[in-house]
Amino acid sequence: MTDFHYDLIAIGGGSGGLSVAQRAASYGAKTLVIERDNRLGGTCVNRGCVPKKIMWYGAQTLENIHKAKGYSVDVELKGADWGALVGKREANISGINNWYNGYLSNANVDVVHGDSYFDGPNRIKVGDQLYTADHIVIAPGGAPTVPDLPGADLGMTSDGFFELVSMPKRVAVVGAGYIAVELAGVLRGFGAETDLMIRKDFALRSFDPIIQTTAMATMQAQGIKVHTQCTPTALNRTADGIIVETQNGSLGAYDAVIWAIGRHPLTGSLALDTAGVEVNAQGYIPTDKYQKTNVDGIYAIGDVTGQAQLTPVAIAAGRRLGDRLFGGKTEAHLDYENIPTVVFTHPPIGIVGMTEPEARKAFGEDKVTAYQTQFGPMVDTFEDNPHPTVMKLVTVGEEEKVVGIHMMGTGVDEMLQGFAVALKMGATKADFDNTVAIHPTSSEELVTLKPDHIVKN
Ligand code: NDP
Repeated sequence: MTDFHYDLIAIGGGSGGLSVAQRAASYGAKTLVIERDNRLGGTCVNRGCVPKKIMWYGAQTLENIHKAKGYSVDVELKGADWGALVGKREANISGINNWYNGYLSNANVDVVHGDSYFDGPNRIKVGDQLYTADHIVIAPGGAPTVPDLPGADLGMTSDGFFELVSMPKRVAVVGAGYIAVELAGVLRGFGAETDLMIRKDFALRSFDPIIQTTAMATMQAQGIKVHTQCTPTALNRTADGIIVETQNGSLGAYDAVIWAIGRHPLTGSLALDTAGVEVNAQGYIPTDKYQKTNVDGIYAIGDVTGQAQLTPVAIAAGRRLGDRLFGGKTEAHLDYENIPTVVFTHPPIGIVGMTEPEARKAFGEDKVTAYQTQFGPMVDTFEDNPHPTVMKLVTVGEEEKVVGIHMMGTGVDEMLQGFAVALKMGATKADFDNTVAIHPTSSEELVTLKPDHIVKN
């Protein structure tokens, strides 16, 4: 045994790696985190959730100022300083990075910065230094995908977006998922001319139809120009900016083109084959419910598994793995069912559980009763064209067990968490009905759905 032998090594100092390491160390395990970046925190802290939410709040603040007139508040909007906000945002993130350093040292977790790779099942190298461990957790996360097209490197990804110190005035966002709609919303909120290019007819195609249609209509009403059935084939730089060639002709010029077409796992440099760890066709590492890979003593958590790529999922999986390996909780594992999630559009989207089509497919067409409502939220009473709030409750069986909640509207981001608890506990529509409404709120609509709200197919 060397001085460099650990009970547990986590590859990746992001949400998953940090949480499993901290939890393992809390039981006295000798623990090491290896992070390739010089900052701890991973995508969420440095290039994802945290900077995104700051920019979302910025865009939301601008929207609220536009609404001030309706409330007879006399404000003059002189502009928004993107660069100044980015400076404050990055200072805030540095604070989080530093906090992690202290947190890990207090937790007795060792940290090494550098590129790591397997040198056999229990062996990890960083440069020439060998580290060995009884348990190795692979949690390197993922990175945005850039398509293989002529001129693709003229575009940027979400990583480049978070490096922008001034707002590009004319932007094309390519993609149809979380990142595409979130970044398009922020840019439009700050006043950029924003085009969204999607391959099919709707963005967020894995979401319930009510969310797809509402999101599309809302984005268009905000002035985001959505190009459907639009597949870029090349990017060209001209004196006026970047031109996006598509199968239907040229679009642009743009000051920035953002690829938001998905992410891929960062497994390529880990030499997983030297340890015999299997990956699937997309490069993700399959695991069982205990996060075990096909090799004993090697586990994978977070985005690298391709399952529910969300920070709280990686954290929860990491903590449970730490509990199981070192805390004596032999059955601890994460239940990946009914994970609530929010898309930070303007207004936000909040969902948990099955979509209506998923439920009808799983349980049978006539076993599902879905309720839906649409209304103008009270906060927009004085707006000429308020964005509608939509809500759908998907229920199953005679007892009308709630299996899906889908919402888009002001405040649903904060509203969802509690409703997700109810769904996870197996609440029925009657339980919702028996809960006294809080008035006047938007959330009360979810506990006052009537038979005339039933979706007729
Ligand atoms: P997503 O998987 O959410 O969406 C990417 C979409 O882009 C695809 O679904 C596809 O939609 C479209 N697409 C794929 N390839 C191409 C292509 N070649 N050209 C044009 N469009 C293409 O990926 P994201 O990168 O947006 O996000 C990754 C993950 O990160 C999310 O799934 C989520 O788990 C997580 N995330 C969560 C956030 C949150 O919780 N708020 C925020 C950001 C990310 P289609 O097939 O319809 O064309």
